[in-house]
Amino acid sequence: MSLFIISAPSGSGKSTLVTELRKSVPGLEFSISYTTRAPRGSELNGREYYFVTREEFERMLARDEFLEHAEVFGHYYGTHRRFHREAEARGHDLLLDIDVQGARQIKEKIPEAVSIFVLPPSREELELRLRRRSEAEKMRSEEVIRNRLETATREIENYPAYDYILINDRLEQSIDTLKAIVLAERLRGSGRLLGTEEQEIVDAAERCRQERAGEQLKRVLATFALPASGRR
Ligand code: ADP
Ligand code: 5GP
Repeated sequence: MSLFIISAPSGSGKSTLVTELRKSVPGLEFSISYTTRAPRGSELNGREYYFVTREEFERMLARDEFLEHAEVFGHYYGTHRRFHREAEARGHDLLLDIDVQGARQIKEKIPEAVSIFVLPPSREELELRLRRRSEAEKMRSEEVIRNRLETATREIENYPAYDYILINDRLEQSIDTLKAIVLAERLRGSGRLLGTEEQEIVDAAERCRQERAGEQLKRVLATFALPASGRR
């Protein structure tokens, strides 16, 4: 089995991409995290998250039930060990949608995990997406948007720790690239000789390798006033 980690600053389009990926790639399970934050909008317990109290979360933590956990925007979030165990038993891949702190913990425990960092095309576009989304949810708050933008800059500094960088500019193209990354990992794992179409998928994924991100990444980083070297 392969373990995939996907992280992104809030508003980059990660949920949109993950929803599309789950629809079109079979054999890929999704880990539902535990969180102490309250449900938002149409979120349901057991679908987007398991919503628990701080006390419950701390009890689970004491029993060592989490593969990783972190505090994000003042709330606990954690990945229960059973998702990994169960996906492995079924011979399926598993996708974790977790923040940069969680990704670091997983990479330490499971170095072969494949990590993907999603970036917006620029700070300006991130701000636009955050505004559009908060208007759609009728929860417009300048303070929340400012806070998410500041956090984004700090999170983006962690990009060098990820295997793949996906700049989410045109949505359709980003969905194809994300699918290519998952399929390429499976093809490589198969160890067999690849056909032309399969090789194209592997090549598309290779272009997103963090070490190869190059000029386009530099331009995105510059809009956040970040140098190209990042922090490992
Ligand atoms: P995240 O999960 O990273 O916080 P969302 O998936 O909620 O982000 O996306 C934030 C907003 O940006 C949503 O309104 C979504 O429809 C929009 N969005 C996502 N991807 C793109 C894209 N490639 N181009 C334009 N808008 C996008
Ligand atoms: P949100 O509250 O907007 O759904 O998520 C906020 C952040 O928490 C996102 O970056 C998301 O990836 C991260 N997150 C969600 N679940 C987990 C988890 O189980 N562990 C960690 N470390 N982060 C998580």
